[in-house]
Amino acid sequence: MTQANPVINPLERTHTRLIGAHMPTSGGIQKSLISGKEIGCTVVQLFTGSPRQWSHPELTEETVQLFRATHAETGIQELIAHDSYLINLAAPDPAVMNRSRGAFRSELDRASRLGISWVVTHMGAHLNQGEDEAVQRLIESLKLILDETDALGWTAGIALETTAGQGTGLGWKFEQLGTILKGVGDHPRLGVCMDTCHVFVAGNDIRDAVTFNHTIEEFDKLVGLKYLKVIHANDSVKGLGSRVDRHAHIGEGTIGFEAFRLISTDPRLLHVPIIVETPDAETMHAVNVGKLARMASGIIGVQLQLHGSYSDLTPDSTVCLELPCGSTLVELVDAAISAYPKLEGIRSHCRFAIKDTVIDTDTLLQEGDVVALLPPSSGG
Ligand SMILES: [Zn+2]
Ligand SMILES: [Zn+2]
Repeated sequence: MTQANPVINPLERTHTRLIGAHMPTSGGIQKSLISGKEIGCTVVQLFTGSPRQWSHPELTEETVQLFRATHAETGIQELIAHDSYLINLAAPDPAVMNRSRGAFRSELDRASRLGISWVVTHMGAHLNQGEDEAVQRLIESLKLILDETDALGWTAGIALETTAGQGTGLGWKFEQLGTILKGVGDHPRLGVCMDTCHVFVAGNDIRDAVTFNHTIEEFDKLVGLKYLKVIHANDSVKGLGSRVDRHAHIGEGTIGFEAFRLISTDPRLLHVPIIVETPDAETMHAVNVGKLARMASGIIGVQLQLHGSYSDLTPDSTVCLELPCGSTLVELVDAAISAYPKLEGIRSHCRFAIKDTVIDTDTLLQEGDVVALLPPSSGG
């Protein structure tokens, strides 16, 4: 006989901090809201058209109504769109520029009709035709599009995303992003999206409290926290300053858990929705959203792997536990025994290891740790 697993859905505890993921739209754009709701998202990001095509089928009134009805049913609190990858609002070629402005207006049109608050866009690329000129063209594009769409009464805003500094992409330095914002001038429909992976590979460390704080202060000084409307939470495959953009699962890349704990609990950032854009959406978005939601609530999720005579206690020989941030092995053992009294013996008879290294009773546990139970005689 086994007791109910003590894991409860952490997402039900976070009401103020919006956490979600970029959800797939196959089968209709409203599907992103349904699957987002299923994995516990309180905010959803989506493509309103195909991200690798210039033209999109007209958004019919029927599609808009279905999307809005689904939005109301799911209760997702905020919606974000990401624009097409082809758009370059700083393009040196006038034909590409024209096409980009047209496509971006359509992005804002679709988003406004769907009740999406921000369209996240990359800042374009200079393509080695002069960086300063490209910045000026981008400023001009943004002013023009904001003016035109204001006149039309469109509501969706533009959130410029910090980039990784790959190729000739603009906006990987905070200074440049600040120049662009100043160039356009304050506008209620102009904001910024901070991507943790991009910021990190662009050379801004965020891995501990000191470096994280420094990066946020620099961002505030050079860009302005008041512009921050969306956070993309992605760990990174590549290292600090590598300028190579490869997203990794939360806590499993070169950035690590602490940065995500800090970003999801920093009082200066609490009002900003967090979106995960990590690989393997089908299976891993739920896991990554869960990690962030737990950390936002000051909780870590850890697993205790059972062995020997204890392994029959649960079907998969694993006990999943949620503990307050800052818990040590002692608290893990206490929680495991209180959930499964038959484990009482592990307190005196067993040793514990994380990744084949034996740990002490005062070892600080982290989100995602898998703690293995070792018999006392094991070589460990
Ligand atoms: Zn991003
Ligand atoms: Zn990226």
